[in-house]
Order: sequence, then structure tokens, then C-alpha cells
Amino acid sequence: MSIDTAATAHKASGELHAVVDPSDGSTIEQIPVSSEADCDAAVESAAAAFPAFAASSPRARGEMLRKAYELMTAESEQFARLVSRENGKILADARAEVAYAAEFFRWFSEEAVRVAGDFRLAPNGDKTIVVTHEPVGVSLLITPWNFPAAMATRKIGPAIAAGCTVILKPAMETPLTALAIVDLLARAGVPDGVVTIVTPSPAGPAVSRMLRDSRVRNLSFTGSTEVGRLLLKQASDRVIRTSMELGGNAPFIVLDDADLDEAVDGAMVAKLRNGGAACTAANRFYVSRPIAAEFSERLSERMSALLMAPGLTEGAGLGASVSMGERDKIAELVDASVAAGAQLLTGGATPDGPGAFYPATVLRLDRDNPILAQEIFGPVAPVVTVDSDDEAIALANASEFGLISYVFSGQLARAMRVARSLESGMVAINKGVISDPAAPFGGYKQSGLGREGGFAGIHEFLESKYIGVDI
Ligand code: NAP
Repeated sequence: MSIDTAATAHKASGELHAVVDPSDGSTIEQIPVSSEADCDAAVESAAAAFPAFAASSPRARGEMLRKAYELMTAESEQFARLVSRENGKILADARAEVAYAAEFFRWFSEEAVRVAGDFRLAPNGDKTIVVTHEPVGVSLLITPWNFPAAMATRKIGPAIAAGCTVILKPAMETPLTALAIVDLLARAGVPDGVVTIVTPSPAGPAVSRMLRDSRVRNLSFTGSTEVGRLLLKQASDRVIRTSMELGGNAPFIVLDDADLDEAVDGAMVAKLRNGGAACTAANRFYVSRPIAAEFSERLSERMSALLMAPGLTEGAGLGASVSMGERDKIAELVDASVAAGAQLLTGGATPDGPGAFYPATVLRLDRDNPILAQEIFGPVAPVVTVDSDDEAIALANASEFGLISYVFSGQLARAMRVARSLESGMVAINKGVISDPAAPFGGYKQSGLGREGGFAGIHEFLESKYIGVDI
């Protein structure tokens, strides 16, 4: 893997952007900022490459993705170190992310050759219904900073499998991983023009310009609900296909018959993976009254024992936020929560010194505390006491978000009843993490539109065509 090669291969406007290590504020590398002309050229090359790539065989595209999976796996340690440095997350989380990211290439290498159509006689017998699928066309992929590898491969994998060409716009906090992935795809045999990366700053005007270009047919966005809403409005001008993977505010429900060891282990993963900067992060803990105090104490003990240190430090359990700005947002949310009556069990104080660090924090609070209405995106666990399953369900569903929910119970039938009542695209039962490239990832309500991964993922990049014919 050569990040230098990837960065210099990228077109330059002359202006440079410094990518910063959030654990100490040092510059890792300066990358070129894409100009309007670079963005136009990216659309041009994606459009020029599309017809031949769309016509290439599914097997050939599958083989490219398989090669990309093998390269990423072989270079996983270098990728993980890069992710950890530019994002701040601990190396263990970065390694897990890279393995997850590579799996999207493997999964979609297998999906490329399994797109099924339909062939059947119409009910009244007057024709045959033939349904086939075709790549939607040039796709703009916009990714966030919290999973710089996996959010890119989760989009590029299905796009290549489907035969689309893409323009990738990564978050400017973490573009180095994306540049390295684009370099890797070239080495895996992906033809020129199929995957082009742009790094404009600011993002808004450049993205609007690309969305106005009639050659762009599809927008796949992962990021905040606020920016997603804005992009949906823009996409409506040209009725562009959109997939939206947006914010979350995940409830974590612990019923009174839950195994407490299992629930605390699950909470540690669901809350602290990526330092809490995950759309799937448990954000609101609803715990049954008989076990709420013990759960909160045990969670506080485990969280306060974590070593907070730069992500590459041996034994680090909690790394830095991606930036000082993100760190300050977390601190403000906690301060406002405490001012509104939350009881602080551990954490809650921003440390002195360099780096965007915020400690693991546990709060006990009332159900109307303002922090429960926000996506915290940091290592903060607000715990609310509940008195029944139905109360937990009602509180969990009282949110504009609906990405994922967690349920812990000793009885499967009870947990399934709760799971069926929850308004979210995904439910984890007695598990702290369920993301899987082979499963559909996505949300209800303002957490998004469409699904990534699983059997659904490739269809975000395919149009279906019905042909009616007498045969
Ligand atoms: P963000 O601020 O919405 O940014 C996401 C991407 O959009 C970045 O590439 C950003 O570019 C770009 N962007 C920002 N403003 C834009 C605009 N006006 N027009 C076009 N593009 C624009 O989100 P973030 O802070 O990076 O990521 C955190 C959010 O992502 C959280 O809400 C999280 O829940 C969500 N997320 C969701 C999922 C999911 O699958 N549902 C997964 C991961 C994260 P710049 O960096 O250049 O500003």
C-alpha cells in the first residue's frame, strides 16, 4: 500500500488540506483540495468509463472485488494504523473496521454473479414478463469520518458488482484511508475512470455542482441526517436515485430477566466501539428498575477502568475524538445534561493537555433529559430507569431516528416481542454488535432510506427493467 502514491495520483487544484492526527494535533499529510474543474473531470471520466464497465462480465467485476478483498486483507495492519491515526480510534477498533471493510469486497464479489431476474407468463396469458437489472450509472458516493474504510467499501463494493462507475467524496477529516482504498482498487485491476476520488473543500458547492450534472444518476450518502436532508432536496431537482444512511439514537433496553454480565459486556461494545462515534452506538440505556443501579455501577466501573490514550498506544481502550470540535460537542452535551439534573457516575470532565480526548462517562437521568434527544457520538452512556417492557418500547420509539435498537433479556420470546415492536431497521438481541456485510444495514424514519449490504445492497446500484414480450 502506498498512501503517497495515492495522494499524488489525485488531481490537484494547488490548494492543500492538512490531515491531522486528533490525538496530538500533528499533521499526518497534506492532500490536494479538488477544484471545480477536478470535480467536473471526475464526472467526465466516470461517465466515459461507464458504458464499457456496465458491459463487462459480472464474473470479471467479481474477480476485481475478490482481488481487492485479498489485497486489503494482506495490507490490513497498514490500513488499520492509518485509520487509527487519522480518525483517533484505538487500533483494535481500526483492525475490526478494516476486516469489516474488506468483507464488503468479498461479499459483493460473490453477489456480482447472483443478480436474479424474473421470467413468467402474465396472469392473463397475453405475454411473458421478463425483468432484468441494469447498472444505474454514474454514482456519487459521500462518506463520513467515523468509519473511513468501511463506509467507502460498503458503497464501492456493490457499485462495482452492479457495473456502476463512481466518484467517491470522503470526509475531509479522514481522506487518507479513502485515497489508499482507491489506490488498492487500481492494483486490483479496476479500470481507469471506474473509481475516482475527489476531495473538495468546502463540500457543499462541489457536491451541488456534481448533482446538477445530468450524467450523475445516483447518490449514495452516509452521514448526518441534517446533511442528508439537504442532499435529498438537491437530488429532487433532477429526481436522482438516492440511498441515505443517516444518524441514529439507538436505545439499549435491559429487561429485568437479562443476564447482567452479558448486558454489561454488550453495553461496552455497543457504546464504546469507535469511542462511541458510531451511528449504531447505544445512545439511550433503558434499564428495568430492579437491576438499574447494579447495571449502572458495573458499567461505570468498566468504563472508568479504560486507558484513554492515542489510538496506537498498547492497551488503549479509548482513543481520541476525530477533532477538538467533536470533542467539545460531547462535553457541551454532558454539561447541559448535568445542568438539567443528570447524576454523573463517572467521567464528565474534559482533560487538560493535547489531543481531542473525552473520558468514558456514565449518567443516570430522567427520561426528559435533553441529552436523550441527541446523537451523542462520544463515550457517554445515559441510563434511564424503566418499569415495564411497554414503557421501554414507548421510550425507545419516541425518537425521530430508527437505525438500530438493542434488547437484553433471558427469554427469547420476550426479547422477540420487544424487537418486533421497535421502530428501527435493525435490532440486536443479547449482542452489542450485529453489523455484517451479509445483512441489510439501514434505518427507519429519519435514519435513512435504502439498505446497504446483504442481498439488498447491490440493488441500490441497479435499475430494474420490465420487458413484456410474446415468447
Ligand atoms: P456529515 O457532517 O453529515 O458529513 C458526511 C459527509 O458529507 C462528509 O463527507 C462531508 O464532507 C459531507 N458534507 C458535509 N456537508 C455537506 C454538504 N453541505 N453537501 C454535501 N456534502 C456535505 O457527517 P459526519 O460528521 O462526517 O459523520 C457523522 C454522522 O454520520 C453521524 O450522524 C452518524 O450517525 C452518521 N453515520 C451514519 C451511518 C449509517 O450507516 N447510518 C454510518 C456512519 C455514520 P466534509 O468532511 O468535507 O465536510
